[in-house]
Amino acid sequence: MNSSAFRSAVLGFLSLAAFSPSAPCQNFTVTLLGTGNPRPTIQRFGPSILVQAGGQNLLFDCGRGATMRLYQLKIEQIDGLFLTHLHSDHTVGVPDLWLTGWVMGRKVPLRVWGPAGTQEMMKHLQEAYSFDIHMRRDVDEKRPAEGVEVQAKDIDEGVVYENGAVKVTAFLVDHGPVKPAFGYRVDYGRHSVVLSGDTRYSENLIGFAQGTDVLIHEVLDAKAYAALANSYTPEEKARVLAHHTTAEEAGKVFTKVAPRLAVYSHIVPPDAPNLVPDTRKTYSGPLEVGEDLMSIEIGKEVTVHRASQ
Ligand SMILES: [Zn+2]
Ligand SMILES: [Zn+2]
Repeated sequence: MNSSAFRSAVLGFLSLAAFSPSAPCQNFTVTLLGTGNPRPTIQRFGPSILVQAGGQNLLFDCGRGATMRLYQLKIEQIDGLFLTHLHSDHTVGVPDLWLTGWVMGRKVPLRVWGPAGTQEMMKHLQEAYSFDIHMRRDVDEKRPAEGVEVQAKDIDEGVVYENGAVKVTAFLVDHGPVKPAFGYRVDYGRHSVVLSGDTRYSENLIGFAQGTDVLIHEVLDAKAYAALANSYTPEEKARVLAHHTTAEEAGKVFTKVAPRLAVYSHIVPPDAPNLVPDTRKTYSGPLEVGEDLMSIEIGKEVTVHRASQ
């Protein structure tokens, strides 16, 4: 290599480096598709969060209605689905996402990452829907075969996805006996968002969330949940409480992480009037109570848009 070729190679490397992970980010948006829990309410669809970064659409959990929310946003395809755990409120939307996405035009396999059991669940879904798949693929509509395929992977704690400047790291959280249960951190360039998944107070989450811009955490309004009329006995309610995080506990997590913005999602019960006052006992920083279709742009500023505005 002569000296000018060497210089241009170096310059090429430098200009590439300018767009590498240390560069300022463009278009890093997190949208809460569903902020609810197992209880069917029209105001809060099942748990699901869309992270858009580097031109990629990554979906985290797929609760009830996630595909409808994606279509509300005019997003027809996603690049990957990441499951925090296999509780049904986080997964009942998977067949809809997978099969409707195929019917609406996906030509490539659906990629799914999740805890142990994810591959098996996806295999069983393929068996459950084998009639529909056979009809649409082989008999009637002749939809592309690859589009209904699934590439599922059971993951452990650590980096599970890297594409361009986008990196997804799974970390263990503490959802009582539901093991393994993960939270996720998505890094895009210098910015990041952390999603708690379902967890009670977790020191491991606090460790993985250090330095993040936005921390989206599940929460349970202890007073409102205790007063909620449902089919659970007080003992069963106590068990639910023990697998989740109260607002006062979440406030302690927020204080230890000190994100630029703390956000609640997976809100139990759907009407939770004590969330902010309870959180304020332990945390005084920026806080938003999530709503369906609330979006958060992460960059030099962290900007929140509510669908209701
Ligand atoms: Zn849940
Ligand atoms: Zn759960």
